[in-house]
Amino acid sequence: MTSEITPFNFRGHSFYVKRDELLDPLLSGNKYRKLYNLIQTPPSSYEKVISYGGTQSNAMLSLAALCHLKGWEFHYYAKPVASLLKQQPSGNFRQACELGMILHEIEPEHYAAKIEQLRAAAEPANLFIPQGGAAPVAQQGVELLAEEIKAWQDAQNIQHLFIVTPSGTGTTAFYLAAALPQTTVLTTPAAGNSDYLKSQMAKLGVIPDNLTILESEKRYHFAKPYPEFLAIHHELKAAGIEFDLIYGSKMWHVLMQHLQAFTGTILYVHSGGLSGNETMLDRYLHHGLETKD
Ligand SMILES: *Cc1c(COP(=O)(O)O)cnc(C)c1O
Repeated sequence: MTSEITPFNFRGHSFYVKRDELLDPLLSGNKYRKLYNLIQTPPSSYEKVISYGGTQSNAMLSLAALCHLKGWEFHYYAKPVASLLKQQPSGNFRQACELGMILHEIEPEHYAAKIEQLRAAAEPANLFIPQGGAAPVAQQGVELLAEEIKAWQDAQNIQHLFIVTPSGTGTTAFYLAAALPQTTVLTTPAAGNSDYLKSQMAKLGVIPDNLTILESEKRYHFAKPYPEFLAIHHELKAAGIEFDLIYGSKMWHVLMQHLQAFTGTILYVHSGGLSGNETMLDRYLHHGLETKD
């Protein structure tokens, strides 16, 4: 399955967007790429998949969809879930529960030790996936994405190509840069600063030279509402493409701050995550930043 690349005009500048958000409603964006190897794996290879992280995570929902498809049990470990969310499940959490996710709530003081225990206890029939899918299993699918980009670049005869995509764990940006050494990959961390992102990426290997981490002027906390993120989300949507409010908004915001530094063609790889916008928009509403129409 390949995704199309469409021209996109934003604030008077020309971009291209690789429409990975359109690959599948649940297994979309970079989660489709990172799980590609497992999507191709025969159902008999595993009995269960074990992972952990936040309860509105996009990776959680994608894994739930994958396991549902394969008939694998999906065990997900998280810190205790807010009682309101349990009473009225919403967003990615609701969808993952409907897909059969088995949730295990772990007290914060036991959380780190529990994760280490699960990691160490993994058996061949039980697949352990680190938070956010930050694992070498992601490489194959991201390499296929790189091949699609390379074929397009050659067909369009593009000399100077910059590829832009936001980072959580940095797994997508890392393997993309490694697969396309002639191209510059630009990214920005959705969580923490660039030192933190580099420490995450270094777990995968030596960080490629052609990977550039862009910093924002201001410090942002992960998945918190910010008026500038909401504003750019609406502006991008009005320009024709919906992006997610956590990674996409931050990436576009930071890209626009640095745009003069890059002369060439810019290809933004849509990282998906649109299923999380509903609950994020609710949070903006509660903060009084968004008005219901
Ligand atoms: C998971 C996710 C990311 C981060 O991907 P990494 O490979 O962990 O850096 C970026 N954007 C969206 C929408 C995501 O869901």
